[in-house]
Amino acid sequence: MKRSHLIKPILDHNYPTVSHGSGIYLYDMDGNQYIDGSSGAVTASIGHGVLEVVDAMTEQASKVSFAYRSHFTSEAAETLAQKLSELAPGDLNWTFFVNSGSEATETAMKIAIQHWQEKGYERKNRIVSRWTSYHGITMGALSMSGHVLRRKRFVPLLEDFPGISAPYCYRCPYNSEPSSCRLQCANELETAIQRIGSENIAAFIAEPIIGASAGAVTPPDGYYQRIKEICERYDILFIADEVMTGIGRTGKMFAMEHWGVTPDIIALGKGMSAGYTPMAATLVSDRVMEPILKGSKSIMAGHTYSANPLSAAVSLEVLNYIERKNLVQEAEEKGQYLLQQLHGLAERFDIIGDVRGKGLLLGLEFVSNRISKKSFRLQNGITTRIVNKAFEKGLLIYPASGAIEGIEGDAVIISPPLVISNEEIDRLVKMLEASIEELQHELHAEGLI
Ligand code: PMP
Repeated sequence: MKRSHLIKPILDHNYPTVSHGSGIYLYDMDGNQYIDGSSGAVTASIGHGVLEVVDAMTEQASKVSFAYRSHFTSEAAETLAQKLSELAPGDLNWTFFVNSGSEATETAMKIAIQHWQEKGYERKNRIVSRWTSYHGITMGALSMSGHVLRRKRFVPLLEDFPGISAPYCYRCPYNSEPSSCRLQCANELETAIQRIGSENIAAFIAEPIIGASAGAVTPPDGYYQRIKEICERYDILFIADEVMTGIGRTGKMFAMEHWGVTPDIIALGKGMSAGYTPMAATLVSDRVMEPILKGSKSIMAGHTYSANPLSAAVSLEVLNYIERKNLVQEAEEKGQYLLQQLHGLAERFDIIGDVRGKGLLLGLEFVSNRISKKSFRLQNGITTRIVNKAFEKGLLIYPASGAIEGIEGDAVIISPPLVISNEEIDRLVKMLEASIEELQHELHAEGLI
């Protein structure tokens, strides 16, 4: 076989070569069809092959693709920033464009620190975050991430920002039930602040619904209200990492709207351009920008491709498309339908311990014993096995396991494009059912359940 020069996720794995995509489907060069049941990495939210986006891309590229942001602004970037400020809650009226989710959270961290510096608080430069979280792969973003597997190799170079438990109700760190819980996991933020000293903390960051490290883990009602109260009481900014949840994915434009809480800064990525181009953003409130506008008048962050007109035009068309097709509402409705089907699967298969999520960001957690909620050992590689089984059947799902053995379980995310129909959901669920059935059968034979 011809050697490859491309560094792929797993170097000795034989990946099919993608050929083209249409709607919820992707095709490889051998003509095999795949249902994109996870929108890639929760990204392709308007589906593949949307010609309106291709047209917007062509139109902008034929005028100008790149003009450096230190030389020019562009109509595309200005219009997109205006659109985001209209869509965003509260006074989140400013946008800084970047190219990936990691850059968006890293920039959020830097803007939070700069905000306090401009007000004369030089020491307010630490971030508090949660275990069982993922905010990105660059060093600042990884410092904030409580994803043990991804941190492991770099721990000596990272800040130890993750300090508090995640609102992981299925495996509640306080053994509470959501109906009677006193939000102790939220109160941990207050304890952490008192320990570190609010004079040393710039911000708290959280994913509204936890994605990559746990599979659509959704907090109990009241959690974010409590978090926001604590942040306000101690003068700490609240950053919502909506890279995975933002732009309609959970049935609201921004997931924080489910709880009526407005963050000070929002990080966006993935669904912002639905995979048509690298594009991400950090939205910032008027209040956070105020001392910077009065002070140095410049954000100390940025990348060569930040706010390039081509990506901005593509993202703008993606947002317009989402509005025209009413896809936020669709995510809510189709999500209800898919959730119902997933609960149906949980009735059939004992290895499904939990079904969770909102809109079309749904997760399944697998257990070896449903009553005790005992998870599988890491070495059993259950997440990988279920993802591979689905793949063989032509269904793409997203592995979501942060690998803190005994604390986090095996989980997958089901997050198809928001344009999926009920009939397509039925097909997706049938393939998922066949994959889980096969796995459960094998695990029996192996004596693991
Ligand atoms: N934050 C969250 C919540 C994410 O889910 C991800 C990606 N999985 C990131 C940040 C990092 O985004 P990117 O991979 O685009 O750098």
